[in-house]
Amino acid sequence: MAIRQIVQIGEPVLRKKAKKVEKIDEKIIQLLEDMTDTMYEADGVGLAAPQVGILKRVVVIDIGEGLIEFINPEIVETSGEYIDDEGCLSVVGESGAVKRPYYVKVRAFDRNGQLFEIEGEELLARAFCHEIDHLEGVLFVDKIEK
Ligand code: ZN
Repeated sequence: MAIRQIVQIGEPVLRKKAKKVEKIDEKIIQLLEDMTDTMYEADGVGLAAPQVGILKRVVVIDIGEGLIEFINPEIVETSGEYIDDEGCLSVVGESGAVKRPYYVKVRAFDRNGQLFEIEGEELLARAFCHEIDHLEGVLFVDKIEK
């Protein structure tokens, strides 16, 4: 386990599309564990692998209700919308109002290679969208309401 450095806005890696994980090996498990340590250390509610400089579709989230690990996550359902302030560990000191769905369902693999689905509302739905955006090279600052 180790704390990794969080990449800041301006670094090209944050703007690239992350690659699908083809095999869940020891390196991926290590990455998940390091990302979790890094997220907690930074007091964040989510972290995507590109934020530690790794272009893989791996995400960790904990909004205070327990750790969620995503490998190759996909949003399969959304509904409603709401606007709230958002920030990012890669955009230190900035926040802004972003419109996100109120409800989001995600399908992903867990660390054992099992496909699962999870639903979230409000902050959890927002975290799902924010972190999955990172896998596409999208940052919340692109979506701030004018
Ligand atoms: Zn972020």
